[in-house]
Amino acid sequence: MDNLEELYSEVIKFHSKQPRNFKKLETANREMEGHNPLCGDHLALYLQIEDDRVKDIGFQGDGCSISRAAASMMTSTVKGKTKEEALVLFNEFHRLIKGELNPASEAHHLGHIGTAFSNIHKYPMRVKCASLSWHTLRAALEGSAEAISTE
Ligand code: ZN
Repeated sequence: MDNLEELYSEVIKFHSKQPRNFKKLETANREMEGHNPLCGDHLALYLQIEDDRVKDIGFQGDGCSISRAAASMMTSTVKGKTKEEALVLFNEFHRLIKGELNPASEAHHLGHIGTAFSNIHKYPMRVKCASLSWHTLRAALEGSAEAISTE
């Protein structure tokens, strides 16, 4: 096993214990499911899109603490953003978890997500846990009809 201690920062622990936006959204006009078979993470993402903006967002599902914390932070961050802004965030997050974006030296819009997930690229098994909700978000925004899998 990897030593995951540096991964489980206080902010990740906090969000995994008390995830934000952990609800089924009755006003959702888009729903998307995502699975990460490597870990067993599953989530359903609910979006209310109005005028090309994420007016409200919620998620439900079962997953490890990394996937739950990532979904909690992702939903808090993209809420209120335009579709275009959300896709910029997706791209920044994707580069972050691949180790291509150094949040300490490069400008980004990820806020505390950038710090919380700055080490995750060292743990390839956990990268898919962190990215599941983001890939599901992108699929939902792009209007994909099929559930997504990180495999
Ligand atoms: Zn996981």
